[in-house]
Amino acid sequence: MTKYIFVTGGVVSSLGKGIVAASLGKLLRARGFSVAIQKFDPYINVDPGTMSPFQHGEVFVTDDGAETDLDLGHYERFTNTSLHQLNNVTSGSVYQTVISKERKGEYLGATVQVIPHITNEIKARIQMATKHFSPDFLIAEIGGTIGDIESQPFIEAIRQFRLEEGIGNSISIHVTLLPYLQTSGELKTKPSQHSVYVLRSYGIQPEMLVCRTAVPISQKEKEKIALFCSVSRECVFESKDMKSIYEVPLALEAQNMAGVALKLLNVKDKKPNLLSWEKLVDKIKNPKSEITVALAGKYTDLNDAYISVVESLKHAGLEFDYKVNIKWLASEKCTDEQKAEEMLKDVDALVVPGGFGVRGIEGKLNVIKYAREHNLPFLGLCLGLQCAVIEYARNVAGLENANSTEFDEHTKYPVIDLMTEQKNVAGYGGTMRLGAYPCHLKEGSKVQKAYGKKIIEERHRHRYEVNNEFKKIIEDAGLVISGSSPDGLLAEVVEYPKNDWHVACQFHPEFKSRPEEAHPLFRGLIKAVKNRKK
Ligand code: GLN
Repeated sequence: MTKYIFVTGGVVSSLGKGIVAASLGKLLRARGFSVAIQKFDPYINVDPGTMSPFQHGEVFVTDDGAETDLDLGHYERFTNTSLHQLNNVTSGSVYQTVISKERKGEYLGATVQVIPHITNEIKARIQMATKHFSPDFLIAEIGGTIGDIESQPFIEAIRQFRLEEGIGNSISIHVTLLPYLQTSGELKTKPSQHSVYVLRSYGIQPEMLVCRTAVPISQKEKEKIALFCSVSRECVFESKDMKSIYEVPLALEAQNMAGVALKLLNVKDKKPNLLSWEKLVDKIKNPKSEITVALAGKYTDLNDAYISVVESLKHAGLEFDYKVNIKWLASEKCTDEQKAEEMLKDVDALVVPGGFGVRGIEGKLNVIKYAREHNLPFLGLCLGLQCAVIEYARNVAGLENANSTEFDEHTKYPVIDLMTEQKNVAGYGGTMRLGAYPCHLKEGSKVQKAYGKKIIEERHRHRYEVNNEFKKIIEDAGLVISGSSPDGLLAEVVEYPKNDWHVACQFHPEFKSRPEEAHPLFRGLIKAVKNRKK
């Protein structure tokens, strides 16, 4: 029978609730339990696919093509599992279902209301995930901060669900902030007390508290929090700021967080196997040397926009005992080749990540050209592949001003164009080529060697592709199409064989990299850095 763990957040947002949920998932998995994690997002968008990365950060794509919250990326990386559409529930998707049922007359004349119709649909989503995954534990994280109007239906649904599932089968964990007042040298507990009061006023008394803090919490302070928030002393946990998010599971394990949760849920504890995670954290803390990778993107003011890319670089770095520093390049500032050279001369590699729209494209072309001409290890992701192809078409294949029709509808040489099946698509939500597709790699190519196999499966999120009309010209000019869809119609990977690592892919490998197992394409990039350093 599945046991439920609900995670809410208080006082402020961005507390790392997602990391706490993922860490607990990791600790339970390390004990041999199966875990499913669900994220509830209270916004009205049906999914984050239509939101600007400036607002929301990265959109994480699952194998089954769901565009989801970036916390799902943490869940996948921490628990080493692949998630699913069911793992992300938004208010928008809940309302969409309820309203479409209403239009079909399924409510038989009833007045459709937040309680019970919206809350029932939320509970149904929890049940659907339970049925689909049959996990030992389902961890559900509610986005936003307690007190927000938008999240109230989710909190109410949880209150009902907990009653219906019976005492002992679920717990509530509240993650809060203990602000530190520099002048008085004190940690303040009042905001957390208030947050718990509000949660309680919604009918939920949390069993466990995780307190985010910049300094250690003394026993006395823990006792005070326990007393005022009505939780037992052993249920107050410290979540101190860490250098690496991957340290969090171990810090929580040291306080026996999973053990306490299991006790509250009446499940016998087991000995965790965290050996390889401990090794990982040890590597993170003791790198042998450092390298710098330039990331030429558009949303460089918000690092969360490229979170999976950055994590993938770190994972690959660890395999070679490198700490990877990121140099953020606002690509629109790389206005000419000289600027590109200035910006790249002190870096060890270049990554051009995914993106949309024309802004910064010329700058991306400049840095890719520099990388190609100077054998600087390069990896292009999705838009990065499209730019690599445009750069090659213009500067090597002689197709002057070649472009993507996304950036110049009337270009003479549309080397990147809308996919045929995209041509009649109306609307933006969930309409791209999304999710995992197989790809065949060319025997003997750099990527085929990097993967060590010929057929791979990677996740996609794009509308445009390499235009088949120009494939031959570009290939004749020396760029190799080293990965294609099984029918051969879609170019999925390109590489420039003269360089050590000048590789770009139409898919997003960053969604499948794991801390304990770097992705082959990122590993290939960092390996090229290492060889170059020799
Ligand atoms: N804008 C490009 C497309 O839609 C690339 C998308 C991406 O990088 N995810 O094809």
